[in-house]
Amino acid sequence: MNSRVVIVGAGHAGGSAAAFLRQYGHTGPIVLIGDEPLLPYQRPPLSKAWLKGEADAESLQLKPDSWYEEASVSLRLGATAASLNRGARTVTLSSGEQLSYDYLILATGARARTLPIPGADLAGVLALRTAADAEALKGALGPGKRLAVVGGGYVGLEAAASARALGGEATIIERESRVLARVACETLSSFFQAYHGARGVRFELSAGVAGFEGADGHVTGVRLSDGAVVPCDAALVGVGAHPNDELAKDAGLDCANGVVVDIEARTADPHVFAIGDVTHRPLPHYDRQFRLESVPNALEQAKQAAAAIAGKPMPPHEVPWFWSDQYDLKLQIAGLPFDADRQVVRGDVAAARFAVFHLKGDLVQAVEAINAPPEFMAGKQLIAKRTRIDIDRLMDAAISMKDVAA
Ligand code: FAD
Repeated sequence: MNSRVVIVGAGHAGGSAAAFLRQYGHTGPIVLIGDEPLLPYQRPPLSKAWLKGEADAESLQLKPDSWYEEASVSLRLGATAASLNRGARTVTLSSGEQLSYDYLILATGARARTLPIPGADLAGVLALRTAADAEALKGALGPGKRLAVVGGGYVGLEAAASARALGGEATIIERESRVLARVACETLSSFFQAYHGARGVRFELSAGVAGFEGADGHVTGVRLSDGAVVPCDAALVGVGAHPNDELAKDAGLDCANGVVVDIEARTADPHVFAIGDVTHRPLPHYDRQFRLESVPNALEQAKQAAAAIAGKPMPPHEVPWFWSDQYDLKLQIAGLPFDADRQVVRGDVAAARFAVFHLKGDLVQAVEAINAPPEFMAGKQLIAKRTRIDIDRLMDAAISMKDVAA
C-alpha cells in the first residue's frame, strides 16, 4: 500500500491508473510522467467534437487540475522518460532526473504512423494523435477548405465528417478497395462509404499514394501512384498507429507489436506493468494475444494494474469494445470477429439502424451496431457468457434482443 509507483505516459491509461490506485486505497507516492505539456485528456473528441468547436480543452481533461494535488499525484509534464534500469528500479528522464520505483506502469500509448514518401515534411501534411495535432488540423478546416485524408480508417472518416460539417471539402484516399478494410466487415464499409458519399465526401479507393505536391513549402495536393493529383489545402495522414514500446524493448522486456503482458497487465518483470495502446495483451474470450487501441481497453488495464498494486481483487474480464461517431451515426462494436464463419444482419441498413453479428457456429464472436444500442448491449453479453443462440430468432428484428438472448 505504501509502495512508490511511477507511471510513464500521462494519457488515458496512465491518468486513469493514477485515479484507480487512489480509488483502490493505495496510499504510497504516485508520480505521473508525461511528455505532452498537458494533464491527461481524452483523445476521442479530437476527431469529433473538438474539431467542430463543440468541446474545449477543459472538457477533454480526465480530471480537473485540482484533483492531482488533492490526490497527491506528483506530475512531471513535458518530461520524457528516456531509459529504465530494471535492476536498480529507476527511470531516467531526458533531463537527467532519476526516479526510483517499487512498481512501474508503462502507459506510453502509440504514435501516428508516418508515410516515408516525398513531400511528407511539407507544411499542411498533418497527423491526428495529440491535442496539438488536433489544433493544427482545426486551423486547416472551414468553409471551402479542401482536406485530403490518406487512410480510410475510423480517425480518417471522423475527420472527413467533421470537415464536411464545417463546410469544407473532403477526399478520402484509401489503398484498399474499401474503407475500414482492416477493422470492419464489408457491410459496414459499404454502408459508411455510401453515408459519407451522400454527404459530399469523395473517395479514391484502391489508390496508392506516391507523394505530396507542394508550393512555397506548403502542401497543395496528394499525388497518387497512377500519377493523378488530389488537390488540397491540407492532407491528414491517418494510416494507423505504432506502439511506443521502445523504452520497454531497450530495458529487455518482451515486445511483439507492443509490450507483452499477462491478464493482470504485468510484464515478465513483477515490478513492471504495461497498460493501454502500448500492450500486446491476452484476450480471455478469444484465447489469444492482441494489441487493442481503445479507451475501454485503456481503462480495463488501468484497473488491472491498479488492483494488482493495491492488493485488491482483479476486476472481471471485459469483452473488448469500441465506438465511433460520424454525423448522426453511433457505431458500437463489441468483440472481435476471430474465427467467425457467418455474418448475420439484423435490422434495416437503409434506415441506418442495424447490427452485423459475427458468428462461429451459434456463438456470437462480435457485433457491429449502427444506432442499435440494444443489439450492442445484448451482443456484448452473449459474447461474455458464451451463450448459444438461435440464429433464425436473431435475424428476426420483431423479436427483442432480450428475448433472443434469453
Ligand atoms: P495515449 O492516450 O496515447 O497516451 C500515451 C501518452 O504517453 C501520450 O501522452 C504520449 O505522448 C506519452 N508518452 C509516450 N512515451 C513517453 C515517454 N517516453 N515519456 C513520457 N511520456 C510518454 N478510442 C475509442 O475507444 N473510441 C474512439 O472513438 C476513439 N477515437 C479516437 C480518436 C482519435 C483522434 C485518436 C487519436 C484516438 C481515438 N481512440 C478512440 C483511441 C484512444 O484514444 C486510445 O486507445 C487511448 O488514448 C489509449 O490510451 P493510452 O494511455 O494507452 O495512450
